[in-house]
Amino acid sequence: MSAPLGAAPGSVATMKIRGAVLERIAAPVPFAESAPITVCELDLGEPGPGELLVRIEAAGLCHSDLSVVDGNRVRPVPMLLGHEAAGRVVAVGAGDSDIAVGQRVVMTFLPRCGECAGCASEGRTPCVPGSAANNAGELLNGGRRLHRDDAEVHHHLGVSAFATHAVVDRRSVVPVDDDVPPEVAAVLGCAVLTGGGALLNSARPGPADRIMVVGLGGVGMAAVLVAVSLGAPEVIAVDTVPEKLALAKDLGATATYTPAELAEQGVQAEVVVEAAGNVRAFETAVAATAAGGTTVTVGLPAPDARASISPLGLVAQGRSIVGSYLGSAVPSRDIPEYVRMWRAGRLPVERLVSAHIGLDDINRAMDELAAGHALRQVIVFD
Ligand SMILES: [Zn+2]
Ligand SMILES: [Zn+2]
Repeated sequence: MSAPLGAAPGSVATMKIRGAVLERIAAPVPFAESAPITVCELDLGEPGPGELLVRIEAAGLCHSDLSVVDGNRVRPVPMLLGHEAAGRVVAVGAGDSDIAVGQRVVMTFLPRCGECAGCASEGRTPCVPGSAANNAGELLNGGRRLHRDDAEVHHHLGVSAFATHAVVDRRSVVPVDDDVPPEVAAVLGCAVLTGGGALLNSARPGPADRIMVVGLGGVGMAAVLVAVSLGAPEVIAVDTVPEKLALAKDLGATATYTPAELAEQGVQAEVVVEAAGNVRAFETAVAATAAGGTTVTVGLPAPDARASISPLGLVAQGRSIVGSYLGSAVPSRDIPEYVRMWRAGRLPVERLVSAHIGLDDINRAMDELAAGHALRQVIVFD
């Protein structure tokens, strides 16, 4: 199980890994033909102080990966993608660590330094050095551990999990017990943290509040699961895709609508989560928020997107709009809570997994995600 760390004389120890590298952004669709992502061999440096070498067990494809591929979120390339993942620690960098070799860990996509104003905000605003490292494609301690043919490859959100192994900062992971299967652990790290946090951290619904979720991707469907587990009197799911509405119903939603049906029938809720990441979904969510209620938006539309809403409607009806990045989560606090809910049978997140794929399927899988067909496609490594 230990990693083959081979040190050449006078050089930093590296190991060979296989990973999925985004070579260029905004390639034409279908990606299965333009192939912006190549699966190749890379050199992974050894973990530095405070870092971990993790053998990846499962990694989910998330819309935030697609947003880098299609150019909606501009990131430096080449970049080894993948940020929703779980794996086992196979080596620990120099110095003391509270994490031992063999520990299963969940990756989280925004490291927390624990010392900045963002970290002091209990998740309301992102960690400042963590965000800077993510934007630079580096790990939290600075620099990159990924090379290909002697050229550096950027890390994706401090994780880069579409690979056999990753080196990550200790502050990018949360340990979980072995009874949590890798694909469940992976989905907790992004979809559930974001969708669940939109409710538990940002909206904080009261027991009588109806909850609506607009946009049923992995994050939205996770919000449906959490809304059901909270025992909300009504859980209303909204999407354009009939299959997703059927699954939401199956997962416990009390009513489902297309956006057109929703507008036609004037259905509203006290808490409305927008998880589609486009302007029309945002406008739908705001319009469907009842007097005194809260719209929580977690989607990531294009940076130049602008929405049209009525300010008077907010004032006259005492409504609020709240933005929630990463579900305003504190992963080390929230993931153990989701694990408890999963163990109690209240959060069957394995039902969000719509397909198991191999690393080589990645371009085609991005097409599936872009087409809105896929919920969570999970890459499994053996
Ligand atoms: Zn994600
Ligand atoms: Zn911080």
